[in-house]
Amino acid sequence: MNITAAFRQAADRLLQPDCDFCGNPCSSGQPLCDACHAELPWLSAEYHAPLPDCDETVSAFAYQPPISNLLLGIKFGKNLRSLATLGELTSNGILPQIAQIPEAILPIPLHSRRLQQRGFNQALELARPLARTLKIPLLTHAIVRSKATLPQTELDSRQRLSNLKQAFQIASLPPYHSIAIFDDVITTGTTARELALLLRNQGIRHIAIWSCARAILRQKHELTEQIDYHVQPTQ
Ligand SMILES: [Zn+2]
Repeated sequence: MNITAAFRQAADRLLQPDCDFCGNPCSSGQPLCDACHAELPWLSAEYHAPLPDCDETVSAFAYQPPISNLLLGIKFGKNLRSLATLGELTSNGILPQIAQIPEAILPIPLHSRRLQQRGFNQALELARPLARTLKIPLLTHAIVRSKATLPQTELDSRQRLSNLKQAFQIASLPPYHSIAIFDDVITTGTTARELALLLRNQGIRHIAIWSCARAILRQKHELTEQIDYHVQPTQ
């Protein structure tokens, strides 16, 4: 192959990158091909019932394959390529559905020990494209997780609340009026609500809770499956 042909092939490839899921060509600037994009479990507005203690709850996806598998893989395998793709898709899913642009995004912090073990906070990484597109700051040092809590999925609802009591502390919170809390997955929402209450007590008027995925329980029996599926030792 001569240099011109090689250059043309490289340029074509740049203009039409491969789908991160199936490898087929996809439109420029998109991480997935149209078919894979359409197959994702995008969450429709009817599932955006606000959690108590917040004004708005918006998630990009239902917590089900392939999103659930990707999130678990990221958590354990440190697959940063999936993390970037999922962050872009999350941003695409959330932005058209928000009622109000917040002044800042607060990714739910990890306890310092867990952050050290994992090397990154997946909530922070997933929220980056949202903050970039909206041109608002990501609050990475406003709140600290002062207590190394037990994995929420191993507890019943009452234990969940006491497990999280005073789990978060204000470190340095600028005087915002509206903040979007961001988590990777919302199951019962207890963690996000604990943080929302803390923000409310600081005078934040509009609190949104955004997430990449939300566990959707259509039938009561699904609760056990979903939560069992979500059990993980290092959450
Ligand atoms: Zn594809």
